[in-house]
Amino acid sequence: MFENRIERSKSEALFEEAKAYFPGGVNSPVRAFKSVSGAPLFIKHGEGFTITDEDENTYIDFCNSWGPLILGHNNKQIKESVIKTIHDGMSFGTPTTHGNELGKFILDNNRFIDQMRFVSSGTEAVMSAIRLARGYTKKDKIIKFEGCYHGHVDSLMVKAGSGLATFGVSTSAGIPASFAQETIVLPLDDEQAVEDCLRAHSHEVACIIIEPVPANNGLLIQRKEYLAYLKEICAKHNVLLIFDEVISGFRVGFEGAAGYYNIQPDLITYGKIIGGGLPVGAFGGKKEIMEHVAPLGAVYQAGTLSANPVAMTAGLACLKQLADPSFYKKMEAQTAYLAEQIETHAKEQSYTLNVARIGSIFWLCFSDETIRTSAAIKSESMDYFKVLHHELLQTGVYLGPSGYEVGFLSKALADDQAHLDLAISKMKDALDTAYASVSI
Ligand SMILES: *Cc1c(COP(=O)(O)O)cnc(C)c1O
Repeated sequence: MFENRIERSKSEALFEEAKAYFPGGVNSPVRAFKSVSGAPLFIKHGEGFTITDEDENTYIDFCNSWGPLILGHNNKQIKESVIKTIHDGMSFGTPTTHGNELGKFILDNNRFIDQMRFVSSGTEAVMSAIRLARGYTKKDKIIKFEGCYHGHVDSLMVKAGSGLATFGVSTSAGIPASFAQETIVLPLDDEQAVEDCLRAHSHEVACIIIEPVPANNGLLIQRKEYLAYLKEICAKHNVLLIFDEVISGFRVGFEGAAGYYNIQPDLITYGKIIGGGLPVGAFGGKKEIMEHVAPLGAVYQAGTLSANPVAMTAGLACLKQLADPSFYKKMEAQTAYLAEQIETHAKEQSYTLNVARIGSIFWLCFSDETIRTSAAIKSESMDYFKVLHHELLQTGVYLGPSGYEVGFLSKALADDQAHLDLAISKMKDALDTAYASVSI
């Protein structure tokens, strides 16, 4: 199984066709395979730990729709709940019991938020949380970190300015410089940088936003003391701390990174897993802060399809399967197993490689060092990834098409030791090819 033909002509033809309809042929840029070679796969079916493309090639999947599908593809309970709900209609633009049920289930099982609001994407969750932080503190500037991604929100598509410039510059055309200047960008893993910045600017800073598990630019696992420090310094300066848990929420534990590290931020954003594969995001926090959201408060936020019953049902059917305490233990243990197997092989072959991991997230890091900042990632190391990615496609393993993207283990694969072992052996072989053909 998974010994694929090299043939991907249907995907290639469909991609050519798609280029006429969508800029670059895609509806989200990283799907375009720009940083690896070849045309993106057109997937027609997913089942458990596998996806099947239009050319009938089947792959063991470590992308899982970029994270939402923690259970794997086409999960039976989610599918059946969605079909049942759909019989009553798709959306009413009114409150429904489905929204109440998902809200109650999350809040009953999460000590870090008292109230929440559902939106339809991670980007929307972050955008709304930032507005709430600004409205609540009556301050305008925000601090983010280099190497953290928070969706395509204007004020967060910003990188550090050059030289001594304190304020950010945008990383996309179409963002006014005046917006970017409201964002201060600091390096991760550097208490002093935060200290110095807040000493000068705390009177104008509304919030610090961080991915507590930065997983969009490699996997830059932070020190717990650093995250605890952020909490402490924010409290001292009347600055809100926002954990962007769109990836880490329900992934490193049901309570996400807040629970994993036992650190209480002021606001938390969610997305990805929370919708079980349908478009759902959310932001939540202390009641006292959340009450500033309209219609109770002055911070406006709305959504035509927010908390639509079908998406709420999918989210609930997904999250109910995660609440068992043994769930995350097994996911973490199997991810550790994968990482250790690969690291042992790399050591035997004297490859410079380590596998960063937390919960069921892993990242192949082509370096000996533990990497905590985006500046520490060597861009040349992506040459290995390119070969690795290509080899794995040929042998039936799908990784997200960029070396800066992390891998996600699904429950379906964690439960199938034989196929997990098969995927690991294919990864070892692909690494052998990569290290034989690339020298940097
Ligand atoms: C994916 C992601 C987002 C954006 O979510 P979308 O649903 O793609 O808008 C925001 N923050 C983090 C940390 C993410 O991983």
